[in-house]
Amino acid sequence: MKKFNTVKTFSNNSVIEERRFLFEVVGISQQGSNNLDYPIRQSGTSFITVPYSRMNQEMTRINRLGGKIVNITPIGINTPVQAQSLSSSSEKTTNNKPMTQAQEKKEKKEVKVPVNIYRPKNPFMGKCIENYELVAEGGSGTVRHLTFDLSDGDLHYLEGQSIGIIPPGEDEKGKPHKLRLYSIASTRHGDNLDDKTVSLCVRQLEYQNEEGETVQGVCSTYLCNLEEGADVAITGPVGKEMLLPDDEDATIVMLATGTGIAPFRAFLWRMFKERELNPDYQFKGLAWLVFGIPYTQNILYKEELEKMAEEYSDNFRLTYAISREQKTDDGGKMYVQSRVSEYADELFELIQKPNTHVYMCGLKGMEPPISETFTAEAEKRGMNWDEMRKQMKKEHRWHVEVY
Ligand code: NAP
Repeated sequence: MKKFNTVKTFSNNSVIEERRFLFEVVGISQQGSNNLDYPIRQSGTSFITVPYSRMNQEMTRINRLGGKIVNITPIGINTPVQAQSLSSSSEKTTNNKPMTQAQEKKEKKEVKVPVNIYRPKNPFMGKCIENYELVAEGGSGTVRHLTFDLSDGDLHYLEGQSIGIIPPGEDEKGKPHKLRLYSIASTRHGDNLDDKTVSLCVRQLEYQNEEGETVQGVCSTYLCNLEEGADVAITGPVGKEMLLPDDEDATIVMLATGTGIAPFRAFLWRMFKERELNPDYQFKGLAWLVFGIPYTQNILYKEELEKMAEEYSDNFRLTYAISREQKTDDGGKMYVQSRVSEYADELFELIQKPNTHVYMCGLKGMEPPISETFTAEAEKRGMNWDEMRKQMKKEHRWHVEVY
């Protein structure tokens, strides 16, 4: 196997985004060079990484050394550009293979999925630094966006994971409250982009018990009323089910009801809002969010979602299912599954691509009707949805977290 002699000539960390090119050079020698700051092979092929701003200088230098550039490949892009000869020699090379995307991908850092850094017996005490309402005037209920400061500890996480919150106090049996899990709504970098916060999106739970009394959820009520500056007991992170693949070209179908948007906010922020922070992840696939909410005023993170959909219209598709405002053709409530059935053909075609991932987060009621839709689509094509879904699950392309 060919061994690349890749030498970084110039590095400028302050310009992370600067495009770089891989020069493939033959016939180079050290004679004539007075000031080389990196090794050059005496014969055969050398590979040199050159930032765009130094291309001219580097071409002149190689020419001065008697070398010939036989290939220039923009790094990060698959198509090699035409080689530019700087030598009068007509020598041909046999080794002018550009660096492939696969080779580049191998060089990407593998990120380990962190789990249970903090356990219930020894939780991390974070501080609430933000707690604001997400439901607009006239919408249904209360949903808060909360951010906790993590700077005094070692808690870190990936998009799609969850953390546990232990509410203070005791239950009716006099035992300390158990932890509740919440899907993380921020990216690994956190809302302040300094890797030192974690955010949640929490609906205040309210329901009628068998006696007809209104009961408020212990942990959700505690969180929704949390003052800025208050301490919070946090465990985790946990969960490997909802992780986002590294593949920048993937198709990511996200089906959410209500606060089930949390992991998808993290995905979308990573894809579209933190591009400068992640030179290794420049999403250029398709992200399609189908978001089910009762009223327009309940569209959580509405402004930012719509801004992203406008700015990245080729890569992000946003479809709402507003159950108490929109109706299906047969007069029923518009749910996420109604949209799945409306776009069944298109979605099913997408699902068959090996780099399509489907994620479901929110109410478990959406799962059976979505399954029925895909079963029918599969049958139309002489396929078996159960088998397909099992296969997708095996390939980590079918991700479900519903309650
Ligand atoms: P919400 O704002 O009340 O919105 C839920 C939407 O789903 C409404 O439009 C509702 O319509 C609709 N809906 C009701 N029954 C449905 C069904 N069978 N199939 C599809 N859609 C249905 O949402 P929320 O209060 O945040 O609740 C979301 C649920 O997701 C909660 O149960 C929460 O525990 C869960 N959740 C799970 C995770 C997770 O698994 N990691 C994370 C966050 C939230 P109508 O009310 O008009 O009928």
